[in-house]
Amino acid sequence: MNAVPAIQVEQLHKYYGQNEVLKGIDFRVDAGQVVCVIGPSGSGKSTLLRCVNRLEEPTSGRILVEGIDICDPETDLNAVRSRIGMVFQQFNLFPHMSVLRNLCIAQQRVKGRGKDEAVEIARRNLAKVGLSEKEDAYPAHLSGGQQQRVAIARALSMDPDMMLFDEPTSALDPELVGDVLATMKELASEGMTMMVVTHEMGFAREVGDKLVFMDGGVIVEEGDPREVLGNPHHERTQSFLSKVL
Ligand code: ADP
Ligand code: MG
Repeated sequence: MNAVPAIQVEQLHKYYGQNEVLKGIDFRVDAGQVVCVIGPSGSGKSTLLRCVNRLEEPTSGRILVEGIDICDPETDLNAVRSRIGMVFQQFNLFPHMSVLRNLCIAQQRVKGRGKDEAVEIARRNLAKVGLSEKEDAYPAHLSGGQQQRVAIARALSMDPDMMLFDEPTSALDPELVGDVLATMKELASEGMTMMVVTHEMGFAREVGDKLVFMDGGVIVEEGDPREVLGNPHHERTQSFLSKVL
């Protein structure tokens, strides 16, 4: 395993005004690991994820992405961000563009790829998420689950070293969740480094290498997913799990 962690967070604090929402987070994701983050609404999961690629500005602490301090003013933030794929609850596809165009536009504008290369890479990633036949479709004509798989393919087309998922299945009808989780599981099995905020405990148990439980801006408990889910040590973890399992 690579000695440099994919993501290392040290004593991260984040305030919104007077409100301290991250209260000294220490956290690490190794290359090739799948780390799942669970916790009640408002516990700071999204804020943590968004700090990792500095969509949010940390108030204090250190965040290293592949050993590079992303808060160092010398750091080329765009270069670091280009290594990190993000998938959100809302898929944020461009509604007026075909699926294929959605997958090509950032490749061409950000990566500077020519059209033919971008199309080839887009098609490869559409095949990976099982949506080759949808390349000419518009997002409105796809199910939510298909749109989310397109969003995953779009992120993959940028060749990220790691993928961050923020509740990728929370906006989906229940019958569409499975296909998206299957796509993510496949990605994990190929060795992608992943940080996944989720309420899908089955996914966390089956696919996660580590499970982190957050509450009130701190990591209350973390460890092997089977251990944390099956034998939680802290009362707060027990209480949360008793409500969601
Ligand atoms: P989670 O993802 O676990 O539900 P969040 O990270 O979204 O939690 O939110 C943590 C806390 O930070 C919440 O109390 C939320 O209201 C607050 N918060 C999140 N984003 C902002 C923001 N942009 N401005 C002010 N407060 C925010
Ligand atoms: Mg959230």
